[in-house]
Amino acid sequence: MISFEEAVRIIVENTKPLGLEKVFLDNALGRVLAEDIYADRDNPPADNSGMDGFAVRYEDIKGATEENPAVLEIIAESKAGGELVKVKPKTAAYIYTGGLIPEGADTVVQKELTKVEDNKVFIFQELKKGSNIRPQGGDYKKGDLLIKAGKKLRPAEIGILSSVNKPTVYVYQQPRVGILTTGDEILDLGEPVEKLSQIRTSNTYSIYSQVLEAGGQPVIIGFSKDNPEDTQKKLSYAKSCDVLLTTGGVSVGEYDLIKDFVVKVLGVDILFWKVKQKPGKPVAFGVWGAEKEKLFFGIPGNPVAAMVVFENMVKPAIRKMRGESRIFNPVIKAKLSGGYRRKKGERLEFIRVSLEMTDEGFVARPFGKQGSNILTGMVFANGFGMIEVGKTEVKDGEEIKVVVFDKSFMDGGLDD
Ligand code: AMP
Ligand code: MG
Repeated sequence: MISFEEAVRIIVENTKPLGLEKVFLDNALGRVLAEDIYADRDNPPADNSGMDGFAVRYEDIKGATEENPAVLEIIAESKAGGELVKVKPKTAAYIYTGGLIPEGADTVVQKELTKVEDNKVFIFQELKKGSNIRPQGGDYKKGDLLIKAGKKLRPAEIGILSSVNKPTVYVYQQPRVGILTTGDEILDLGEPVEKLSQIRTSNTYSIYSQVLEAGGQPVIIGFSKDNPEDTQKKLSYAKSCDVLLTTGGVSVGEYDLIKDFVVKVLGVDILFWKVKQKPGKPVAFGVWGAEKEKLFFGIPGNPVAAMVVFENMVKPAIRKMRGESRIFNPVIKAKLSGGYRRKKGERLEFIRVSLEMTDEGFVARPFGKQGSNILTGMVFANGFGMIEVGKTEVKDGEEIKVVVFDKSFMDGGLDD
């Protein structure tokens, strides 16, 4: 059995970014840019005003005071989007934010420092030459590299793309992630319960949502019974996917057919099976496809195990395929409230914790029952506290590492 770290290393080493596609800007949020973006013009394209006020010649306002103001005739107006106008000695132009600096002017006096009477502006103080002027190219110059390939696009980057007149951009494709749910006992939504032993699926839709959160395109490829015919048939539906996720059927039980059949039907090379972690020990990983560019994860059926395996192992792979460089959930240090004890320390254990930001730093509280079948424990959790290999006891208040899979506890609330 391999360690968690070794398993993650194998996954990352065997995952390659997908090809590129062109998207419109209105669909680009969160995608990873695959081209360098250069400026098509200077920005601003010409000197313009940062204020509403008057464009003047510094010469004409030099020495102006409250008692002895400069008095200039207003002969023009410069609005954002307007024409280039001119000022001559002893004259001024009305100017508005974004208006071009008139020919002959070199300074803008904000409106608050002036008074207007009979088409004349009175200026009561001297300003430094060049005041309130936003210079041509002050943001960037034509040809400047503005955003490097590899950047995950946020609203700011999309604003820049728009300002350099790029309606479409090249980004990395998002993997199609097929989800096959297995188990004789599993019912899909809406299927009638006929036997006490039947279980309504949770994994299908929790995993579907996790794929969406990770930036993949989830596809439900079906539900299969624990028999060879059905398993083979449903697995063949996976061929159009970049990643196949199966849930259930990867332990040593007699009906656990998945691992053998992905090899047979899809030609998967299994690279590991079983990892020294809890929950999620019986996880399988492999590669398939013409160039072994596709991935297979056999995810255990227990709902909590499935979510933990997804966050720690599947999510980084999906993110890498979609071109991201920061692929892991953040890991923080938090004081474990109440401590934690266990009998054996052979595996790295991920305990469900609820995180809180306090004046003394992060505090993690284990919540409810910790069994890998107890999905309600996940509802309160936003992190997985890591109990390291070899450790059987964490004292109350001792610091542990926590994988944060939901950062929303850091958001502000109305009660703060
Ligand atoms: P398995 O990995 O197939 O041995 O399943 C382990 C446990 O997880 C069993 O108790 C299953 O009933 C349960 N389980 C398997 N698949 C699902 C699912 N899709 N939703 C909820 N529970 C499941
Ligand atoms: Mg099963």
